Amino acid sequence: MARYREAVCRLCRREGMELYLKGDRCFTEKCAIKRRGYPPGQHGQRRMKKHSDYGVQLREKQKARRIYGLLEKQFRNYFEKADRMKGKTGDNLLILLERRLDNVVYKLGFAVTRRESRQLVRHGHFLVKGRRVNIPSFLVRPGDVVELREKSRKIPSINDALDAVVRKGIPPWLELDREQFRGNVKTVPSRADITEPIQEQLIVELYSK
Ligand code: SF4
Repeated sequence: MARYREAVCRLCRREGMELYLKGDRCFTEKCAIKRRGYPPGQHGQRRMKKHSDYGVQLREKQKARRIYGLLEKQFRNYFEKADRMKGKTGDNLLILLERRLDNVVYKLGFAVTRRESRQLVRHGHFLVKGRRVNIPSFLVRPGDVVELREKSRKIPSINDALDAVVRKGIPPWLELDREQFRGNVKTVPSRADITEPIQEQLIVELYSK
């Protein structure tokens, strides 16, 4: 599966805001946005111009895509699926993205970034309803139990991440049993449960042109 391999801080600088793609480093003075808050590249400092409507919509889509770590084709497929569903396309889009297994593993606190959680899923560290699932795009449903495999429970980085999330908290549609290394999907997330700074209406406008 193709994926983005360049320095992730460039993505934040391109969007002009923190996308929190590097875990703890994002909350320190080492954050690239704090040190160089202008677009990357040789002409980055000259590129700080006002965007057209199209430019604003495009940037919003790119931001959402980068937050969830998806390539254009994958993101477009989610949009098309959201558009075929009942209800508001923008809400459906964000809810589909939130239901991805890599996102759920991240939100439950097994990893400090989505990139890291995706790798853990790919390497087969998780069971969903007792079955090994190594597909990051797997969509969880209410009632699903996401569990770290027995043999993975001593991995220090996972334990550190879990300790941190117990302090920070998890979204209301999920429930974590820290002792059992297990999370429950209580319900489908609502739009109000999704706190990522995304204006989905702009994405809908972009793809509806
Ligand atoms: Fe973005 Fe985090 Fe890098 Fe800051 S440290 S630029 S928030 S990925």
